[in-house]
Amino acid sequence: MIIDGKLVAQGIFDEIKVHVGNIKGRKPCLAVILVGNNPASEIYVNRKAKACENTGIRSIKKEFLQTISESDLIKEIETLNQDPAVDGILVQLPLPPHIDSSKIISSISPDKDVDGFHPINVGKMLIGEMDGFLPCTPYGIQALLQRTGIDVAGMHVLIIGRSNIVGKPLAALLVQNMPGGNATVTLAHRNSKNLNELSSKADVVIVAIGKPRFLTKEMIKEGAIVIDVGINTIEDPSTPKGTRIVGDADFENIKDKCSYITPVPGGIGPMTIAMLLSNTLKSYKLRTK
Ligand code: NAD
Repeated sequence: MIIDGKLVAQGIFDEIKVHVGNIKGRKPCLAVILVGNNPASEIYVNRKAKACENTGIRSIKKEFLQTISESDLIKEIETLNQDPAVDGILVQLPLPPHIDSSKIISSISPDKDVDGFHPINVGKMLIGEMDGFLPCTPYGIQALLQRTGIDVAGMHVLIIGRSNIVGKPLAALLVQNMPGGNATVTLAHRNSKNLNELSSKADVVIVAIGKPRFLTKEMIKEGAIVIDVGINTIEDPSTPKGTRIVGDADFENIKDKCSYITPVPGGIGPMTIAMLLSNTLKSYKLRTK
């Protein structure tokens, strides 16, 4: 079965819209910071702003030149930290090489860090304190599994890719002793040996490495659940643009062997945005209660 992430995300957007519609007075607000003019980042920022608009969440877009200094960017973030009308702050990554991303992330107030990357929120997630913010992509993967009726408790989940934004936090979430967790997790990466052996035994394979069609039919067992996080642009002369987006799994060849699979696009991407808005609403509620 193909899991329709777009549809599940729409369900979450609808729930958020109802909540926001019932709020009297100041609405929740997300501030998005964009540095430079990376076309992919511009697309992501615009998608997030559009999703805010559709649900009634206010969004502020702060755009800065590629040449902005690290200290000036931190000053801008501090202004947003102090602004009582702002509930969430997101800095679109990647940042230019002269700016230290971890310094920037750490300068965001943890109680406005709706991307869930601040060390305090990462630590809270690790020890299972749920009053922080969970990182949007892992949170979206977990929510998509839960809303599809897949309980990973006791299952063997193989995560391929150990980035700080997907693989590592996802492993922490899925092993947590709480609903949506309790899985047995293996975290594989570029130095892992015998990847095919690991993947062919896993009940769930989550691939987040950024390599087009990396996960093949031969690598998974019959009936496996495949979650494809990758977003890769490949050449395709048959499209008007000459390019096409594919995931990290060889979707066409693998889909009939899986019990469930997420497509790219239309799988994890929309869920990531849904959880961003969900975190923004959570921040608003915590700050106005
Ligand atoms: P990254 O690029 O920071 O790191 C890649 C990871 O893959 C590393 O941990 C590396 O060890 C591992 N890796 C690379 N080659 C491998 C191999 N041959 N075998 C095993 N492991 C290997 O990762 P990222 O930022 O998490 O991004 C991964 C992919 O997910 C990208 O395509 C990115 O665009 C996509 N992504 C999608 C969303 C979304 O919302 N859908 C969000 C974040 C990232």
